[in-house]
Amino acid sequence: MDKVSEIYGSLVFDDRVMKDRLPKNVYKAVHDTRTKGTHLQLDVANVVAAAMKEWAIEKGATHYTHWFQPMTGLTAEKHDSFLSPQADGSVLMEFSGKELVKGEPDASSFPSGGLRATFEARGYTAWDPSSPAFIKDGTLYIPTAFCSYHGEALDKKTPLLRSMDAVSKSAVRVLKLLGRDDVTHVDTTVGCEQEYFLIDKEMYKKRKDLLLCGRTLLGASAPKGQEMEDHYFGVLKPKVAEFMHELDTELWKLGVPAKTKHNEVAPAQHEMAPIFETANIAVDHNQLTMEVMKKVADKFGYACLLHEKPFAGVNGSGKHDNWSISTNTGENLLDPGKTPAENKQFLIFLLSVIAAVDDYQELLRLSVATAGNDHRLGANEAPPAVISVFIGDELAAVLKSIEDGEAYNSEGAKQVSWAHVLPHITMDTTDRNRTSPFAFTGNKFEFRMPGSALSMAQPNLALNVAVAEELDKVYEELSSVPSDKLDSAIDELLRKMLKEHKRIIFNGNGYTDEWIEEAEKRGLKNLKSVPDAVPFLVSEKVVDLMTKHKILTKEELESRCEIFLENYNKKLHIEALTMTEMTKKDVTSSIIAYSNAVAEEAGRKLAVDGGAGKYEKKILKALDEKEEAISEKLSKLEEDTRKAEGMSDVLEAAKFYHETILSDMEDLRKDVDEAEKLVPEEYLAYPTYGQMLFSLR
Ligand code: ADP
Ligand code: MG
Repeated sequence: MDKVSEIYGSLVFDDRVMKDRLPKNVYKAVHDTRTKGTHLQLDVANVVAAAMKEWAIEKGATHYTHWFQPMTGLTAEKHDSFLSPQADGSVLMEFSGKELVKGEPDASSFPSGGLRATFEARGYTAWDPSSPAFIKDGTLYIPTAFCSYHGEALDKKTPLLRSMDAVSKSAVRVLKLLGRDDVTHVDTTVGCEQEYFLIDKEMYKKRKDLLLCGRTLLGASAPKGQEMEDHYFGVLKPKVAEFMHELDTELWKLGVPAKTKHNEVAPAQHEMAPIFETANIAVDHNQLTMEVMKKVADKFGYACLLHEKPFAGVNGSGKHDNWSISTNTGENLLDPGKTPAENKQFLIFLLSVIAAVDDYQELLRLSVATAGNDHRLGANEAPPAVISVFIGDELAAVLKSIEDGEAYNSEGAKQVSWAHVLPHITMDTTDRNRTSPFAFTGNKFEFRMPGSALSMAQPNLALNVAVAEELDKVYEELSSVPSDKLDSAIDELLRKMLKEHKRIIFNGNGYTDEWIEEAEKRGLKNLKSVPDAVPFLVSEKVVDLMTKHKILTKEELESRCEIFLENYNKKLHIEALTMTEMTKKDVTSSIIAYSNAVAEEAGRKLAVDGGAGKYEKKILKALDEKEEAISEKLSKLEEDTRKAEGMSDVLEAAKFYHETILSDMEDLRKDVDEAEKLVPEEYLAYPTYGQMLFSLR
């Protein structure tokens, strides 16, 4: 293997390359744009473009693309070649500053949720110099934001970048109050732990539900599931280990800091965790990770499943959003240090995050609301749909002492001194409380609700803007306090914040019914589904927050709300149609084929010695019964699907899909799966759960 240090970032136009290839003043201009957000002049862009082109061609690239993240949640790209044919028949490789900074994909083919009607169809992509360009498959990829000509955001990156600015502005002001004049900028840092399934590609191709919907809509559970817990951290299968090695290598080349790999709880499930990076880059890198996973899987004869719930009855896949804030001086603002009880700066930031989660529960919840994730949240494998914050017993004791206005006694009966506590907090997994949707894990928060396929721009933008708002409240409370009274004013404020927001803190088991009841009593929101959660995007509270911090306008939020609901309806519509088709064709033909074989055997027995074929009759009767039930339930699903198709109001349709279509599908599935259990594998039109989940080598 090549040395990691040699391949790492070898396909990235990163800071090293820029320093090496750009004139000093140009390098500085780009650096300032990246770190301070200053505007880049066209002459500077021209120089950068030329250097980028040269570098890319040396690496074998012939094309470039503006890579962006439209509202589909996927990434999009439009490839252009560097080639510029000349009058004399020769060809030049060209790439100008203008082509670097601005592109014009046809915006009309991407969802804009009504913005297109109000504004022009044309949109443009704008270079995001804060995320480095890279080469993939012979193409130079330039990360870009995607906006309409009037400046409305048509993508997920634009609001994320704005939210990062918002946190920075708000945090710097608060830090200044605390005497921290050295800090001029803060960045939110993010590490996305990505879960995924690998199954055999040939089996994958035989399942229309996986091909079209990403999840199995039918399928009886295998005799063995995940109950043996022998997969988690188990020994990797040799070919899977090879896959992971190649995945790491490909990611490293792209500058994605992939770090750990292990098996997850469910059979055939795995996880990749990168080392954290600046939010925007981490989000781009997570999108890349998902693409590379699929590509490498394909090469190994696997299909990589990123759906949140590919298999019923088996744990689904999530994506933990590890989140913190760090200063331009390299300090993690959520690091408690050795004496957190005295670390006012830490406590202010800690409580601001807690307050943000409490005040903006709905926003956080809706930021992870997708059709796939609805199957996961609250299903005793992932956090419930209710948001709460876990801080652990030790930090809870610190906060309690603040609330009671007493000095924190680190030598008290129940408390251990912080020096002992710290490794405990960062390392003891029992203390992690895996059931919490939002957990403090030593020096960062871990938001565990996002589903495996989600664009991480969403939860991070939600968190950023909510925290910015709470920091602004802190600033307003403290900004006019004379410096000699600041300390006691901070204590007073922390106490007030704690009193106001302690309802969101919960250190117990989030999977229990008692907690859901208790949460309701505390007034916490339990938004179970997409149609429950997404409409809060246009609630007054969220609109006020987003407009105040200049993240998204009311119109942009309305359009996003519509896009999310529309996406949900489309997904469920496809699922309903796929299930209908599979039942009609695959399931029915399997049952008939097997029934015929059984009938034939009964006939043989009759011919041989007039035998009654009792056993065969029993099978045939059971199959007939199932067929009848299936046909009845299928009719209901088809009828309701037609009803849904006739609905013009997106929210009304979403509710109908959630309440009626999904339960129709569940009803139908029960009978189909029972029929599947009666039919031998050679008669089945699609591979079973057992085959898919336990056949990896
Ligand atoms: P686990 O949660 O699985 O026990 P770790 O605690 O090692 O794993 O870290 C999980 C993730 O948290 C990693 O992706 C890591 O890079 C990320 N992480 C660590 N520190 C920070 C931070 N300050 N900001 C954001 N993410 C972080
Ligand atoms: Mg984790």
